[in-house]
Amino acid sequence: MKYTPIIGLEVHVELKTKSKMFCSCSADYFGKPPNTHTCPVCLGLPGALPVPNKKALEWCMMVALALNCRISEFSKFDRKNYFYPDLPKGYQISQYDLPVGINGHMKLASGNLIRIRRVHMEEDTGKLTHQTVNGAAVSLIDFNRSSVPLVEIVTEPDFHDAEDVKEYLQNLQYIVRYLEVSNADMEKGDMRLEPNISLSTDPKVLPSYKVEVKNINSFRFVEKTINFEIDRQLKLLDKGETPLQETRGWNENKGLTYSQRVKEEANDYRYFPEPDIPPMIWTDREISRLRESLPELRDEKIVRFSTEYGLPHQDADILTRDKNLANFFEETAKIGIDHNVSHRDIANTIINQKIDYEKTHPAEVVKQIVAENKLDELNPEELQRAVEKILSENQKAVTDYKSGKESVIMFLLGQTMRQLGKKVDANTVKQILIDTLK
Ligand code: ZN
Ligand code: MN
Repeated sequence: MKYTPIIGLEVHVELKTKSKMFCSCSADYFGKPPNTHTCPVCLGLPGALPVPNKKALEWCMMVALALNCRISEFSKFDRKNYFYPDLPKGYQISQYDLPVGINGHMKLASGNLIRIRRVHMEEDTGKLTHQTVNGAAVSLIDFNRSSVPLVEIVTEPDFHDAEDVKEYLQNLQYIVRYLEVSNADMEKGDMRLEPNISLSTDPKVLPSYKVEVKNINSFRFVEKTINFEIDRQLKLLDKGETPLQETRGWNENKGLTYSQRVKEEANDYRYFPEPDIPPMIWTDREISRLRESLPELRDEKIVRFSTEYGLPHQDADILTRDKNLANFFEETAKIGIDHNVSHRDIANTIINQKIDYEKTHPAEVVKQIVAENKLDELNPEELQRAVEKILSENQKAVTDYKSGKESVIMFLLGQTMRQLGKKVDANTVKQILIDTLK
C-alpha cells in the first residue's frame, strides 16, 4: 500500500513587547532570577484583573496580515481550562472561536500553497524545572514567563514532507523578524513547534488518527521528528495496525519520539468567553492602517534586489536573510554610485569577505573596493622591456601572430601581465604588444 504523509503545524511565537500580555510586568525575563517578574495578575491571584496589551494585539494582527489572513473585525478572548502547575489560574487566556486572523496562506518556492487556518493571541505559562534538592526530587516553578504574549499560528494539514515544513518555518521566522515583533530565537524558546503527522492512502482524505509531537525547539529536530514518525507509522500500517491517536515527545539523544499521553477523545478545555476582558472591535480603517504600516518583507526584498540592483538571485537571497544586512547593502550601494563601484561588486565583497555590518561603516566597504580596483602606475620603459622580453621568449607565438593567427595576442598579453606582476590596464598592454609586433 502506498501512503502519503499528511502534516499540519502549530507554532507558538513569543512577542518581544516591553510588558507582558495582561499586566505591566517586564516581558524581558530571559535569564532573570526566578519569580522576579511577577505581580498578582500574572501569578493568577484571586481578584486580579487582566488588561490586554494593545501593542501585542497589533503585532499579532501584523503577523496575521503578513500571512495573508483575513482580520476579524470582532474578536474576543476565551478561557481555556486545564490544570497544570505552571498555570496558576487553572486556565489560560487564549482565543477560541473568534481568533485575530483566519484563512491565510503562505506560498513556498515550489509553488505549494500552505493554508493558514488561524492566527490567535494568548499568554504563555510559567516554567517548571525538575530538580533534586537535599536528595529529594522536586519541581520548581518560575512564573517570570507567565503571561508573556504568544501568537499561535495553525496551518491546515497541507504539508506532505519535512522539507516543506522546514521552508515554511524558515519563512515564518523571517516574517516575524522582519516585522520586528519577535527575535524568534530558537534556543531561547521564542519559537516552539508542534507538528501533527499521519499517513493516508488518499492524500485528500484525512486518516482516522493523528499523532501530535509537542514543543520542539529546533527546525532540525522537527525534520527528524517528522521523518521518524513517517517511518514508525508506516511500519505499523504495513503490519495492518492503526497508529494510536496520541501526543508524543521528541528525544534528541535517542533520536526517537516517545508516547506522552494517549487521547481517548479530544481534550475538553471547557472554553468560555473571558468575562474580565471586553470583546475587541477593529474598524476597517484601523485594519488598513496596520496593513499599510507593514514593512517590506523578505520575499519582496529579494525580488527588488534582483530588479533594482541587478543582483543574481543567490546574492539577493543571502543579503536578505538578515534585515540589517540588507539595509547595510543598500546604504553601501548608495555610496558606491558616487565612486563608480557597481552594485554587484558591493554584494560580492559583503558576501565573500563576510563583512560584519555591525562593526563596519558602508563607506569603508566602498573605499576598500575602490582601492582594490585601482590600477598600479605603469612606467612606459618598464612596460616596453617586459613586452620585448616576452616576445623574444615566445618566437613561435610571434610567428603565428604574423602569419595571421591574431588570437595568439591574448596568450602574449597574459604572459606580459604575469611578467609585470602588477595590476595594470590590460588594454594599454595589449596596444603596446600590437605596436611592437608591427
Ligand atoms: Zn505581572
Ligand atoms: Mn497555544
